[in-house]
Parts: sequence; C-alpha cells; structure tokens
Amino acid sequence: MFMHEPGRKTALTKSHTHACAVCEQQIPQQMLMCGPHWRLVPPQQQLTVYRLWNQLHRAPTRSKAYERIWAEYLQARDAAIESVRKSLGETPTADPGHPEGA
Ligand SMILES: [Zn+2]
Repeated sequence: MFMHEPGRKTALTKSHTHACAVCEQQIPQQMLMCGPHWRLVPPQQQLTVYRLWNQLHRAPTRSKAYERIWAEYLQARDAAIESVRKSLGETPTADPGHPEGA
C-alpha cells in the first residue's frame, strides 16, 4: 500500500548499493534484484518495472506525476518480487493451492 510520499529521494539517485529485494546480495541502486533473481521475473513484469523506473527518473520530483509513477512502480516491484518468491517455492501467505474436498 502506498501511504506516504517518500520525501527523500536518496534511494533513487545516489549510486550506492543496496540489497537484492529477495536475497542479501549487494547490487547497484538502480537494480531491483541480483541477476539470478531478476531472471526469474516474467518478461512482462520486467518491462513494466523498467518502464516505470525510467518514467520516474524523467518526472519532476515531488510532482503529482512523480507520486503517481512512484506508486505504480511500488506495485510493479512488489508483483515482481512476489513472482520470484513463487518461483523459489516460497508461500508467504496462506497456500491457495489446496482446495478442500476436491
Ligand atoms: Zn537476489
């Protein structure tokens, strides 16, 4: 859920490294995941994340457009992370794949 405008943009513009969204691997800030994990993201989701990321960098900070793109980016990012977790066999929430009385 998008609750607050981040206010700080350090995480987006500095050339620091940060941890992969799925594991502890240190990666460049502009990347969401390390290579092996990123390759588990479906191509369509990769494109969406790339597209929003690029839009984010073109949008004026603190503009309405920036906030909207940022919210969309967070959703796309979460979806990508979820795809990877599923690929890895993790089920963070209740397992939906067991219909009872089938
Ligand atoms: Zn990783």
